[in-house]
Amino acid sequence: LMQLYQPLNMLGFVYREIRQGLTDMEQMFRLMRVPAEVADRPGAPALQARGGEVVFEEVQFGYRPDRGILKGVSFRVPAGGRLAIVGPTGAGKSTISRLLFRFYDVTGGRVLVDGQDVREVTQESLRAAIGVVPQDTVLFNDTIRYNIAYGRPGATQAEIEAAARLAQVHDFVLRLPDGYDTRVGERGLKLSGGEKQRVAIARTILKDPRILILDEATSALDTHTEQEIQTALRAVSRDRTTLTIAHRLSTVVDADQILVLVDGGVAERGTHAELLALGGVYARMWALQAEQHEAVEAV
Ligand code: ATP
Repeated sequence: LMQLYQPLNMLGFVYREIRQGLTDMEQMFRLMRVPAEVADRPGAPALQARGGEVVFEEVQFGYRPDRGILKGVSFRVPAGGRLAIVGPTGAGKSTISRLLFRFYDVTGGRVLVDGQDVREVTQESLRAAIGVVPQDTVLFNDTIRYNIAYGRPGATQAEIEAAARLAQVHDFVLRLPDGYDTRVGERGLKLSGGEKQRVAIARTILKDPRILILDEATSALDTHTEQEIQTALRAVSRDRTTLTIAHRLSTVVDADQILVLVDGGVAERGTHAELLALGGVYARMWALQAEQHEAVEAV
């Protein structure tokens, strides 16, 4: 995430604003729209969102011209499908989600949403169709209600509560001193990582996007929190096209398709069973994770 801040270092005031008020990746993208290198094509139409099919066609990209990060990445996630992206750190997993959001433009190939090149539609309409649940949600210094309703300004209390229930955070909120009116964030009540993530999930459920990007937390969570988060994630990803930057065994096992990204290229692809049978990079990663998992269980 810090790498995303870098271009902003020059802009002291924006930077300060981000440090103080940044709530999530989407807001950051909005704030970054000024210095970002992408612009709407004059007269660009709005995205005609249908089921939320996502296609990457031979996508090439580098943050700097002298260093390619994605070296011809292709995949297709049908409307409502679930793709998990795995791979070593620095392989380019988050870069894929940034390109789908059109935070940057590709240097080769195409990114298509429902058959439309993301460069040919307005950024606003594209971003309205995509929800992001980031690894680390930073909440507004405001009430829980505000933080959830941010997903859809004007939402009613009943809608906010329904979203919070699905996101497994409603009961927790009711136990807070002022319920939905409790102030949270840097200057309010501090929530745990898992609680903040469930607030972000409730917000995304309210936003109701066709496409979802989930950036799973790498940090270990206790079993109970883990289960609550998994239930919440299942609720938000139901019937939506989902791209997960995956660190959890359960997510990859459930995915329709797993992309193993190594050094900016697709090293392997397939379902969990297919990739295990292949006996390659994925099978080795899996064996290693399963070992660690068992070691934790045995303690
Ligand atoms: P991780 O699992 O650690 O999150 P990742 O697979 O998501 O890694 P990316 O964040 O996509 O990796 O980064 C891919 C490469 O691009 C890394 O080498 C990273 O240092 C570089 N990179 C990422 N963001 C920028 C940026 N804004 N400017 C320059 N280089 C960047």
